[in-house]
Amino acid sequence: MNFELSDENRLIRETIRDIAQNVIAPNAKHVDETGEFPYENFKALADAGFMGLVYPEEYGGAGADTVAYVIATEAISAACGSTGLTYAAHISLACAPLYYYGTEAQKQSYLTRLTSGESFAGFGLTEPQTGSDAAGLRTRAVRDGEDWIINGQKMWITSGGIGDWVIVAAVSDPDKGSKGITNLIVERGDAGYVIGKNEPKMGLKGSVTSSLFFEEVRVPDSRRVGDVGQGFIQFMKTLDGGRISIGAMALGLGQAALDHSIAYAKERVAFGQEIANFQAIQNKLADMAMELEAARLMLYQAAALKDAGKPFGKQAAMAKLFASEAAERATFQAIQIHGGMGYSREYPVERLYRDNRLTEIGEGTSEIMRLVIARQVLRES
Ligand SMILES: Cc1cc2nc3c(=O)[nH]c(=O)nc-3n(C[C@H](O)[C@H](O)[C@H](O)COP(=O)(O)OP(=O)(O)OC[C@H]3O[C@@H](n4cnc5c(N)ncnc54)[C@H](O)[C@@H]3O)c2cc1C
Repeated sequence: MNFELSDENRLIRETIRDIAQNVIAPNAKHVDETGEFPYENFKALADAGFMGLVYPEEYGGAGADTVAYVIATEAISAACGSTGLTYAAHISLACAPLYYYGTEAQKQSYLTRLTSGESFAGFGLTEPQTGSDAAGLRTRAVRDGEDWIINGQKMWITSGGIGDWVIVAAVSDPDKGSKGITNLIVERGDAGYVIGKNEPKMGLKGSVTSSLFFEEVRVPDSRRVGDVGQGFIQFMKTLDGGRISIGAMALGLGQAALDHSIAYAKERVAFGQEIANFQAIQNKLADMAMELEAARLMLYQAAALKDAGKPFGKQAAMAKLFASEAAERATFQAIQIHGGMGYSREYPVERLYRDNRLTEIGEGTSEIMRLVIARQVLRES
């Protein structure tokens, strides 16, 4: 067992920390206050090769491993949660289904536009009536000669509003349940495809989250991603990888909360001394540091298993659950350590707290993570 990062990943960590510190972090308050989408952050990430980080060079990627992706997502999210979520969704939800299940032509035409940073795209699973119970989705795709006709609605789709396309999970055979779902690409501009407004959210305000409406949208069969009836299985496998991303995002937000807390505790004086001298504050810092380190190791383990081609679903669910709840505690305590200033919008910790809340909901809630883990451990015993 080796706990050292590879030379390549150390270099990636240095590069991403530099971009995070010099380009992304200075903009984070403005992004939170205005809800503006931070295009300039993604230009910097694209220029440095991060928009296709884990995909092969033949598709415009950088060929790095999943541990590198955890490192990058942590650093980006520590600087700006909105940029972190958009980045995580880009790599693990927009790119992944095309890379793993797309045809060669789809990889060349769609995946390469994502890895270059030219396009964003959405991953459309959730609907108004179905989130956790994803197999209950109602969007319908009916075959018509060489085309498909799509009717329905998606909700909460990250980057749907800025995406050049969305991959939509739709029921192609209602009699087959989860085996009757097929994934299709709907492009911006397709007749009958309407993108709803950006949802007002409690945090992650610079990440664009939209409802998408499909009315008699006609797409050719060449826009089908993967086999007919395999859509649900593909999306579930995609979400296994996505859970590593959301865990890494939480880790970044939690680490930023710890870093700000350490700096503040050394600077703030009460009762004639720095508050860092008080054991009650030290205990909080110790718990935050310990839990975030455990989360980081769990994420690296899940990432290493994925790269080794081994089953990683249980570890990804555990890492996502643990990291998001550890970050919840870290961002909560960061506000406490900052006292009244923690409650002020002048300091970043209230934003970190709001931004992190999503990590316990998106790509499977904490309740669903416990369900996934429990099913696995019961099966293993
Ligand atoms: C900012 C944001 C971005 C998102 N981005 C995307 C995206 O890009 N693409 C996409 O497809 N979706 C996206 N989502 C949707 C997200 O994945 C869902 O919100 C999430 O899966 C929960 O589904 P739900 O909101 O329908 O909650 P529900 O499923 O209605 O759950 C409500 C509550 O019931 C609990 N619950 C439900 N079923 C069970 C059960 N069997 N056992 C115990 N408890 C249960 C849940 O844990 C939760 O506490 C996004 C959501 C947000 C907020």
